[in-house]
Order: sequence, then structure tokens, then C-alpha cells
Amino acid sequence: MKINVNSCVYNPDKVTYNQPVSISSPLLKENRSDLNCKDLIAYPPFINSHDHLISNWYPKASESQPYKNVNLWVVGMKATPSFIERNKVWINDGSFDLTLGTAPLIVKLGIFKNMFSGCAVVQDHIRKQKPEYYQGNPITILEDYTQCHSVSMGNWWGGKTAVEEWFDAHGKMPFVIHLAEGTDDSARTCFPKIARMNLLQPNTLLVHAIALNKTDLKRCADEGTSICWCPESNLFLIGETLDIYTCMELGINVVIGTDSPMSGSTNMLAELQFAHEHFPDIPMNEMFRMITTNAAKALFLPEGTATLSNDNQDILLINKYNDDPFDNLLELNIDDIQFFMHKGIPVYGDSSFLKHFEINRDDYYFFDTNSENKFALGRPDKIIAEIDKLLGYHKDFPFIPF
Ligand SMILES: [Zn+2]
Repeated sequence: MKINVNSCVYNPDKVTYNQPVSISSPLLKENRSDLNCKDLIAYPPFINSHDHLISNWYPKASESQPYKNVNLWVVGMKATPSFIERNKVWINDGSFDLTLGTAPLIVKLGIFKNMFSGCAVVQDHIRKQKPEYYQGNPITILEDYTQCHSVSMGNWWGGKTAVEEWFDAHGKMPFVIHLAEGTDDSARTCFPKIARMNLLQPNTLLVHAIALNKTDLKRCADEGTSICWCPESNLFLIGETLDIYTCMELGINVVIGTDSPMSGSTNMLAELQFAHEHFPDIPMNEMFRMITTNAAKALFLPEGTATLSNDNQDILLINKYNDDPFDNLLELNIDDIQFFMHKGIPVYGDSSFLKHFEINRDDYYFFDTNSENKFALGRPDKIIAEIDKLLGYHKDFPFIPF
């Protein structure tokens, strides 16, 4: 099916204007005609390179920030109203098996947060889960990765040592680790430690890297190590963030993560807007690169992920407010996504699109926002209802559009 759009962002370096874009899906009906969407922009779906799905609660869980290092927050957050409220739904028993009990309710809330902000892939930083955790979701939770929580705290939530986990990746999948999330000596000493472990590698994804100086960053650039930037979480918790301009000068493969809403942004759209507000000199096509092609590289995703081509099973169609499709990202909220398809399956958007697809309506939730009728795959309404039941009252989340 051809869709006539205002503009089409194929990748961070290629935009076409007034040209149709093609989508394909095994669910498309036969007698179809071209669609006219001249007020929309087509993008490849985004990639969130760092989240903790089990921590998708709101508001932020902190009362005495900024902290000199994140370990202080991990202790302090436990007394906050947000943490205590989340405990009414799920209490961490230390097993970190997120397929059990009520954990899937919060994990799914996190999946929907990513879906409603146009992310088709999310890297959930947690010990490796059972296979079913990664199956049957409307978007992709990255399954092929190895990880360690951090250099400073080790793999306290489960898994092998950092060196063993890196080895298990065999250079064919990302090894993800928090690093230097702070400004004090304990944060600064993380970099020499990971360098001594010989873990500055092309398949290593360092998350945060706040305390890294220019020499450290040069070493990352030389080794081809990727860095995940979480500006809102960093500036909120620590009051400092990655030296992003040096990273860009050095050509480091930088990606963006929202972190969880207990420390970071409400979703990827809010993260981009926050990043631009604090770092206005970064061109928006570079920011877009960080949530698409750079992320696909860091996460070892298949060729063609996070770009559009002549025939697309993954696509976002979004309202146009700005002639520059990259600057347009700064104007958006979750209601502005008109159509989001992942792996040939419509997952979120305006209900009028669904008439072109053979779908089972029971798989979808339909709701009204700003005089539009929207659909969402996976019944987020049921998740919210179950959470409300456990809380004993209704809770609104800013990343859920109904
Ligand atoms: Zn994190």
C-alpha cells in the first residue's frame, strides 16, 4: 500500500518530500487504494536504548537530589511516596524473575509507555529473563544481550561477573553496563576499573558515563565502545550528565535512553525535548540518529532496522507541525502518533487506519483523545484496571494516553 505523506524520513541523512512511502503487511486487505496523509510525516520507529521496565512508575522517586553517586539514590529512593506506592502493586523479593506474580503488570506498563511514544525496540536493563518475557509483546524487548548492573555494585540483581557476561556475548550481541553514574571519586574510579577488565569493546554499551573525562572518552572512541546518554535522569539525580559535545566531536556511537520514569523522562518524546532544551546546539537529525541508526548499531539489531526502505513493515506516521521533520520531533506528544506499525502489525494510532487491515478487534483497546478515536494493541486498559484494583484507586500515568 502506498501512503502519500508530506515528507518521509528514510534515515538521519535522507528525507524526501511529497513522495509516497510504501507499507506492507500480511494483514493488509486486498482491495486497497492509496492513502492520502499529506499532513503527516513518516519516520522509522524509535529505539529506547536504556529503560528499566519494572521501574515504570510515576512520579520520580527522589527527595534529596542531587546525589554525588547513584548508590546513594538507590538507598534514598526507598522512602519516597512513589516507591511506596509502587510497592502496593509489586514488591521486589530479590529474585528479579519478572515473569512472576504482579511484576508483569508494571513491566507491561513500561512496554506501553514505549509503544505510545513510538519506540519499536527497548533495551530493558535487568538480569536475563525467561524466554516468555520477550515474547508476545506489541513491541520488541531486546532479547539478545548480556549485562552487568554496574562496575560499582556488580551484578547484584543476578547474572555472572561483568567479565563472564561480556565473554558470553561472543562479540555478537551487546554487553550492557551502568558506568560512572555520579561525580565523586567512586564514580570516577569506575572507568579505570572497566578499562583494566578489558571491557572497553565494540559490543560494550556503557550507560551514563557521567564522570568520564576527555581522555576517557577518547579511549571509548578508539575502542569503538558505545555510550547511552540519559540526560533527564542524569541531570535530575546527579546534576551532571555525559560530556555529549566531546562524544560527538570524537565520533562516539551515542544512543539515548529514557531510563525509568522513577528517575528519568516520562517517555522518549519527552526525553528528546528535554535534551534539546539543555543542549540546543545538537542538530535534531543527530538526536534522531541516536534513537535510530546509532541504537541499531549499539544493540546489534538486524540490517535495515531503524531506517525506512521501499517496503516497510515498521513505520510511524506522525502529525506535522514543522517543515523540518527533525525539528518536528520537538513539538510532539503521544497523541500525535497517527499510525505505528511494528513487524507488519498495527500497534497504535488512529482507528481509521485499521479498516485497511484484517485484525481481531478483541486484541485492541479503542479510546478517544482530542476528538480522535485511537487503537492500541495489547489491551493496556486491562493492565491499568488491574493496577487500579491493587492500589484501591485510579492512577493516571502521563505516558498512557487515556
Ligand atoms: Zn539504568
